[in-house]
Amino acid sequence: MKNYQVAVVGSGPSGASAAFHLAKAGLSVVILEKEKLPRYKVCGGGFVYRGRKEMPFDISEVVDLECNAIDIYMGRDLHFKTKRKEPIVSLVMRDTFDELMVRNAKALGVEVIQNCKVKSLHKVEDLTAIETSSGLLYSNYIIAADGVYSQVAKMAGWKEDTRTLIPALEYEIHVPTSDFERLSKEIRFDIDAIPSGYGWCFPKKNHLSVGVAALLKDNNKIKQYCEEYIKFLGIEEVISIERHGYQIPVTPRLDGFVKNNVFLIGDAAGFADPLTAEGISNAILSGRLAANAIAKANGDTRLAGKLYETLITNSMMPELLTSMKLAKLFYGNKMARKFLLKNYGQRFSEALTDIFMGEKNYPKDINQKIKQKMKSLLF
Ligand SMILES: Cc1cc2nc3c(=O)[nH]c(=O)nc-3n(C[C@H](O)[C@H](O)[C@H](O)COP(=O)(O)OP(=O)(O)OC[C@H]3O[C@@H](n4cnc5c(N)ncnc54)[C@H](O)[C@@H]3O)c2cc1C
Repeated sequence: MKNYQVAVVGSGPSGASAAFHLAKAGLSVVILEKEKLPRYKVCGGGFVYRGRKEMPFDISEVVDLECNAIDIYMGRDLHFKTKRKEPIVSLVMRDTFDELMVRNAKALGVEVIQNCKVKSLHKVEDLTAIETSSGLLYSNYIIAADGVYSQVAKMAGWKEDTRTLIPALEYEIHVPTSDFERLSKEIRFDIDAIPSGYGWCFPKKNHLSVGVAALLKDNNKIKQYCEEYIKFLGIEEVISIERHGYQIPVTPRLDGFVKNNVFLIGDAAGFADPLTAEGISNAILSGRLAANAIAKANGDTRLAGKLYETLITNSMMPELLTSMKLAKLFYGNKMARKFLLKNYGQRFSEALTDIFMGEKNYPKDINQKIKQKMKSLLF
């Protein structure tokens, strides 16, 4: 009978991070991944510095480009540039980035089973029996790192999905050299490239990752907006294009992150940032927090659950909740958004960059601050 202390379902950044830290703490860990690695993941691959600086190993071999500046645009009139000494965003392709993370976990003794889809879970005394496409195995703890469509969360008893899922498109585009040279000089975000959302153009080694995300609600014209955004960027000729779409969970679950020894991390928990939809750094952080809780509890499953919920409540939730408020304010009203960027665009961009860098948190009393600012401007 194959038996592990922890089974991690999913080998994305959250799962690989959890597995790495669990193995480092001396636990027996298996990663179960339904795909064959390396696998493509729909993602812009923009890894912000607040995540990168916490990485326990060097990732430079999989970084296509380091960006010490970012450019935020609104239409053709407003443009704000921020610069930092360290790379604000490191651009990666997720197949090689995720594989590197898994390789580092493997080096610490983590077993990785690929082409292995988790199909069902059953409680067997203190253990959970995991039925997979590659057979049956048993584990004391399960970590659900199986992404936005987490089946493991459903299997473990989360009845309703309380997260907000938003649609996002990601196109991998090869363009003629002149366009590539022009557009690979900057990493750009275009506010309102799509209503209540933004578009991005991230240069990779030989191509551009261009996408749009509607941050507040579903948008049935999202494909049209993406095509228009490509034109807006001045791309007239396309050598090749791969069109992908997926969802991003931009609010966390409301009914807890642990049930029956199953821990939710990353997108399965709903930990992408509500304002920016940036999910890699919180995925990695939540993996580490789950691993720390399980290792610290030393076999006491109830304590492990409590520790993880406390860690999330104290560290990640305040940030996510403030970011949710900001996202509502920012994307909810076009006039207010334009007013904010016209008058405070550079300050807004600097503050966002500080958050990307992990140098500042979201301001806690954000509603109060905005009210004060509006008052001082009006009177
Ligand atoms: C279009 C788009 C652009 C984005 N751009 C960015 C960006 O630029 N920067 C950023 O920080 N974030 C970005 N994100 C968000 C980011 O991709 C996610 O937040 C991040 O991938 C979450 O990591 P994860 O480990 O939780 O899940 P995932 O990376 O989704 O990994 C889940 C893994 O679980 C596996 N799996 C699923 N079900 C099973 C099963 N039953 N059995 C076994 N294995 C299973 C999957 O194959 C997959 O490998 C973007 C998202 C989208 C959709």
